[in-house]
Amino acid sequence: MSLAEALPKSFEDQQIDRVCPHCDSSVFHDMPDYSKPEWWVGACGDCGFVYLKNVPIYDRMIEEFAWEKTWSDERERRFSQRPASSKASMIWRKIRKPFRKSEHDMFGRLFKPGAVLDVGCGLGNRIPQKFVPFGIELSLGLNRAANAQMKPRGGHCVHAPAVEGIEQFEAGFFTGIILRSFLEHEWQPRELLSGAHRVLRNDGRIFVRVPNFASLNRKARGAEWCGFRWPDHVNYFTPESLGALARECGFAMQLLNPVKISIDDNIKAVLTKRTA
Ligand SMILES: [Zn+2]
Repeated sequence: MSLAEALPKSFEDQQIDRVCPHCDSSVFHDMPDYSKPEWWVGACGDCGFVYLKNVPIYDRMIEEFAWEKTWSDERERRFSQRPASSKASMIWRKIRKPFRKSEHDMFGRLFKPGAVLDVGCGLGNRIPQKFVPFGIELSLGLNRAANAQMKPRGGHCVHAPAVEGIEQFEAGFFTGIILRSFLEHEWQPRELLSGAHRVLRNDGRIFVRVPNFASLNRKARGAEWCGFRWPDHVNYFTPESLGALARECGFAMQLLNPVKISIDDNIKAVLTKRTA
């Protein structure tokens, strides 16, 4: 069962109709190849940002189709529809496993000692031991699991949507913020980045990882591209659009994968506060 199929019929009344999350324009050019009958993906007519126009409201996200609840169904569906490519992708993930440890090590090198915030922290186990861990998590079950990890280390996990959750922290509190596979889900990415700017110390850093809509793989595979998930991916960033949004929110962006960015399905970047 796909995420869209998991929705109740009454769900149509419980969506937010968005304007462009980057520039607030209401000029929207539908991209039918990348849309589903009930989920409209398109590009802003003014700034070109690609986004899902109608998004589910948060409390339904919690109750009806939190990703951790539907992921196993989705994985089975993908496996049965395209066994060869699913197997290839499983093997690829196994090959890449050592690099996940290196991502953990990279956080250790990237951030200065202090408090680190993981937005959409899941189980709360991504922040290296040397930091005081904080999280924001919308799923109640994952929030409890994260608090069990974080409280003994002096931090905690807030149970709230990200934009509200980040407001609960003091200005300049964090030396590092992790936005790993999160901004693509956030229907208010500009508000979240502005909040992150407020709570980040002046010499702090933010790690961002989002699907790369500009990747050659997306252009080749079209709607079959792994970065499409209806309706839970609501923003489709390119390096340019992510950089533009980051600049508007007061950051400079540096790509971590600049050489192979065109063939990488993900954008990985570090944001630092702009001084001028
Ligand atoms: Zn726009």
